Amino acid sequence: MSARVLVLGGTSEARALCALLAARGVDAIVSLAGVVPQAAPYPVAQRSGGFGGEDGLARYVIAEGITALIDATHPFAAQMPGHAAAAAKASGVAWVMLKRPAWTPVPGDDWRGFVSVTAAVEALPRGARAFLATGAGSLSAAAMRPDCRVILRTMTDPGPVADHVRVIQARPGSYVEDRDLLRDRGVTHVITKNAGGPARGKLDAARDLGIPVHMVARPALPMGRVLRTPEAARDWLDSLA
Ligand code: NAP
Repeated sequence: MSARVLVLGGTSEARALCALLAARGVDAIVSLAGVVPQAAPYPVAQRSGGFGGEDGLARYVIAEGITALIDATHPFAAQMPGHAAAAAKASGVAWVMLKRPAWTPVPGDDWRGFVSVTAAVEALPRGARAFLATGAGSLSAAAMRPDCRVILRTMTDPGPVADHVRVIQARPGSYVEDRDLLRDRGVTHVITKNAGGPARGKLDAARDLGIPVHMVARPALPMGRVLRTPEAARDWLDSLA
């Protein structure tokens, strides 16, 4: 049976993996949630939108003749890792997770750990000026603290916001952009999810400016094999052949 790969995407690693697979002529489909406008098309077949839970994903895998499933969703995607694990079990398809490494602190970092954005916001001292690099889903957490000023960066339009919240609709910034933003807006605390990857300009800027970071830990993954790079996922596919 020839290989047919389904990549659950929405990350730069999924995009890089698809480029590796396309370069080899692998029959692959990337699936996107369809919530964020994509910068560029993928070099493999593409589909968009939910499957209808783990049963829907299992039905899709079987109907499409998928032989390998790679969950390359974001480290903070809450539902898809469990759905992929269950669908793989139900369909018998080979399955692996591709999750980039988490960020780790370096000397000079002042990080405090939290289990959720809500907990990280609750821990702000009265009167803080917080920068939340956590997206539109954090709006309700931001709204809890009218005694603080909150700047929320999000890639999607969050709609109406409370008076103490300011929105920056943008992708993650460079070190210089984030340093200038933190300094010019008098930010006293940074709140971020430990997404890992290249968007750590805010962390380096916070360290250089002496600003504490409330770091939200990743949700737990299902029991299974986790690979850290697109190349490792490609090699795993080779090992199935
Ligand atoms: P989620 O909680 O795991 O997903 C919610 C629902 O969206 C899923 O149950 C599924 O619907 C659908 N979905 C998610 N990823 C999909 C995919 N790749 N293809 C098809 N359907 C998908 O994830 P989320 O936090 O809402 O994130 C949605 C997408 O944005 C993910 O693909 C993720 O990689 C990306 N993303 C998330 C974050 C973050 O911070 N959470 C950041 C950057 C990018 P059904 O149950 O109907 O199948």
